[in-house]
Amino acid sequence: MGEAHEATPKFHENRFGEVSEEVRLFSAMVVLWGTEQFGQTLNQLFAGKKKEEVVLAARMLSFYTAHKINLEQARSSKAKRKARILVTLDQNTTCSACKKDSDQEYSLERVPELPHPDCQCAIGCRCGAIFVRTGGLFSE
Ligand SMILES: [Zn+2]
Repeated sequence: MGEAHEATPKFHENRFGEVSEEVRLFSAMVVLWGTEQFGQTLNQLFAGKKKEEVVLAARMLSFYTAHKINLEQARSSKAKRKARILVTLDQNTTCSACKKDSDQEYSLERVPELPHPDCQCAIGCRCGAIFVRTGGLFSE
C-alpha cells in the first residue's frame, strides 16, 4: 500500500501526467475491497473528471505496485530466476510497445517497468512477468 502511495510510474507520466491523489486513493480502495464498483458513493471523488480515466489509472497503479513487489521477491529469493513477459495479445487492443515484449526474457536486473511506459493499449497494459527458475527443478 505504501508503494502505491509514493509510486510515480512512467506509464502515468506519459499518459496522464502526475498521479493524482484521487487515483492513489481509488487504487488503494480497489486493493482493500477487491472491487472497482462503489456505486454512487464515489461521485465526489470523480467530480469534474472522467471516471473511466481515473479507474484505468488506478488499475495501472495497482499493476505497477504488484509487479514491483513480485520483482523484489524474485530478486530476494535464493533460487536463480529470470523474468518472462506475458502479453495479452489482441489484434485490436494490444499496442506495439506491448506486442514487442511478448515472451521476451530478462535477467532480474533488466526487467522492464510494467505497465510498459510507452503502452498505448486503449484499455491499459495487461502485460505481466512470471519469474522462472533458470537452474534445474531442485536447484537453490
Ligand atoms: Zn500496451
